[in-house]
Amino acid sequence: MDSFPSTQGSVVIRNLVKTIQDNATYLSELDGATGDGDHGINMSKGFGLALERLDPQIDLATGLDLLGSTLLTEIGGAMGPLYGTLFIKMATTCQGKATIDAAIFGAMLHAGLLGVQDLGDAQVGDKTLIDTLAPAEAACAAAIAEGVSFTAALRRMAQAAEAGKESTRSLVAKIGRASRLGERSRGHLDAGATSCFLILDSLATSMITLLND
Ligand code: ADP
Ligand code: MG
Repeated sequence: MDSFPSTQGSVVIRNLVKTIQDNATYLSELDGATGDGDHGINMSKGFGLALERLDPQIDLATGLDLLGSTLLTEIGGAMGPLYGTLFIKMATTCQGKATIDAAIFGAMLHAGLLGVQDLGDAQVGDKTLIDTLAPAEAACAAAIAEGVSFTAALRRMAQAAEAGKESTRSLVAKIGRASRLGERSRGHLDAGATSCFLILDSLATSMITLLND
């Protein structure tokens, strides 16, 4: 199958929350090296609150919107508004779609990326989550243009996300709290780029499972 029913949305969101909760300590450790060490804790708190409010019957758009709104309204720091916007834009793009296919998912990522960049103004190379999200979105769009299967497009997206995350290790932060460190930010993975990889990788894994069920 090259699409899955959007009524499977709560599984996707539940897996996403578990991924963030399982990696909360790791993400805060990463943020501790170049920032204030709260990234994993904040993320885990916000994702956990969304899980408490998650109705198992909801579709993907409703689940993503719930997650986005919870992050936007309840989580401080840079991440609440940025990830809040990502998930809300993704939700709006798949609103009312009974099934999710590669084209819809590509459009969701595209809208999410534009939303985050509109708000945060970070570019590739600034050592932020954009270093993960932008190449992942581009890889997904390229795969869709080539006409590969949805599963293959998701795999390529996750690979590009991982490479993008790894690229932040050698970068100097130009935006956000870590930019205060200047050269000393080099040599560390960016916390947001890492959480963004974990998010995209979890989305890909969940969706590939649904596609091949
Ligand atoms: P804070 O910096 O407020 O403590 P977090 O620790 O939750 O927030 O998140 C830090 C992460 O936010 C960074 O690792 C970086 O990836 C991301 N970030 C910061 N500013 C921006 C921005 N303007 N655009 C995109 N991502 C950003
Ligand atoms: Mg922080």
